[in-house]
Amino acid sequence: MESLISKEYKNDFVNTFTGDESGDLKPRQTPGVLYSKAVPTPVKKPTLLAWSAELANQLGIQKPSTQQEIDVLGGNRIADTMLPYAACYAGHQFGHWAGQLGDGRAITLGEWETAEGKVWELQLKGAGPTPYSRRADGRAVLRSSVREYLMSEAMHYLGVPTTRALSLVTTGDKVLRDMFYNGNAAHEPGAIVMRVAPSFLRFGNFEMLNARKETDNLRKLLDWTIARYYPHIQGEDKVLDWFKEVVDRTASLMVEWQRVGFVHGVMNTDNMSVLGLTIDYGPYSFLDDYDPNFTPNTTDLPGRRYAFGKQPSIAYWNLGCLAGALLPVVDKDQLLEALETYKEIYWAKYYAMMGNKLGLDEIGEADISLITQFEEILASIKPDMTIFYQLLIDLPLYMETEQEVADYFKASLYNDLTPEESELLYRLVTTYLDRLNKNTIKREASQQLMRKTNPRFILRNYLLHQAIEELESGENQLFLKLQEAIKDPYSKNFDAFFETRPGWASQKAGCSMLSCSS
Ligand code: AMP
Ligand code: MG
Repeated sequence: MESLISKEYKNDFVNTFTGDESGDLKPRQTPGVLYSKAVPTPVKKPTLLAWSAELANQLGIQKPSTQQEIDVLGGNRIADTMLPYAACYAGHQFGHWAGQLGDGRAITLGEWETAEGKVWELQLKGAGPTPYSRRADGRAVLRSSVREYLMSEAMHYLGVPTTRALSLVTTGDKVLRDMFYNGNAAHEPGAIVMRVAPSFLRFGNFEMLNARKETDNLRKLLDWTIARYYPHIQGEDKVLDWFKEVVDRTASLMVEWQRVGFVHGVMNTDNMSVLGLTIDYGPYSFLDDYDPNFTPNTTDLPGRRYAFGKQPSIAYWNLGCLAGALLPVVDKDQLLEALETYKEIYWAKYYAMMGNKLGLDEIGEADISLITQFEEILASIKPDMTIFYQLLIDLPLYMETEQEVADYFKASLYNDLTPEESELLYRLVTTYLDRLNKNTIKREASQQLMRKTNPRFILRNYLLHQAIEELESGENQLFLKLQEAIKDPYSKNFDAFFETRPGWASQKAGCSMLSCSS
């Protein structure tokens, strides 16, 4: 185990690419460079609120025991070998080209090499202004930091590819935010999360270089990214082959989000990782009631572009933007052909995943219509997605009446079923039971498959909301419980949380919908 202070950090990104080394934090465009040197701005009193012991062990990082070490997590102290920077990237936001964005409040401190030779970027989120902060302050509030900290770890334990979170510190400073965008700005406690990932590179890093016609920089970033993160890809067509793999990883990620009912909320191309990780946790939500049209982001309400059911097709659209950025170095037709494989790859992975969710031995033609039937009937009945699938695991093999079926699923329902809905559900269950009868695997094997595919504990927004309110008033009991529950999402060990979202939470800000203000 090594200390955050005495570690010899690597700085391969900074040492490979041209950056703006002025250290000037004034907002500006930075053509010609891939990053700007940016040192965190100190805060009043960094205090450690949470530490991810498992992640720290995996990386070989000693838990901070001195204020100096905690100061590193709060941006008040920089280790000797760190070369902190903010990356320059662009992006398409809500379907429109937004130009240069960049790390406006994230600062990468350095690269941590583990004893096994794996390299992880350590990045502070909320560490103060950078040249990419535009008109904002470079800070993050406690509520959004708690959400990022807990959810990135929750996704990891669910088995969904994601960036990680090592620590959460409060800063002792207040941050001014207009949470509802209604002119009522208020001071909130500030916080900083240390995020960890092999890389935080986004589609937008590549889009930026293409937009600026910096083809040499684009080639160089591609060569570096491929050599470092995709070393098995080599040869003349490597950029095309790399794009194909990003398509594949992105499709896998979308299937994973659909599996657990995760809605990201802001799938702009600057929030899309080229490693296929879930990145940038903002106004996200799990589905409570199964509604493909649900978006947790108030800014997304008019168009519901980033609604649950649209995520897979938005990912395809975003991949189109990445393909566009590669036009100076790869043949257009080949890129388009690779992009078009997305749909086939996605559906193949999706049906395989749904087969696992339903405990099926394999997926045949008829199963595709069964899956569609599940989607349609769930969308009309809107049961709690997580609880519904949990009940499905132990479904009795013989059910005679509509009433029996309706009673069985009662714990997952937010509304009483109409007679039509009751009939729909009964038909679905009957068709499903017929199919289970034809399974070539034993019932136990089928149930086991379902148990590892369907989470039982999900980090619901209302639970986060309660934990945050408690933390803001100086209590941490719920936060600590949630920190344990996220590590064991497929077991019954945290059944205290196994219930539908309570009525009071359905319209309350922060419990169902969230703004981007963070
Ligand atoms: P997001 O939608 O949260 O991924 O953020 C979009 C862009 O806004 C990114 O370039 C962020 O770095 C920037 N940004 C968001 N919040 C802040 C903030 N408080 N200070 C500076 N930049 C920010
Ligand atoms: Mg972002």
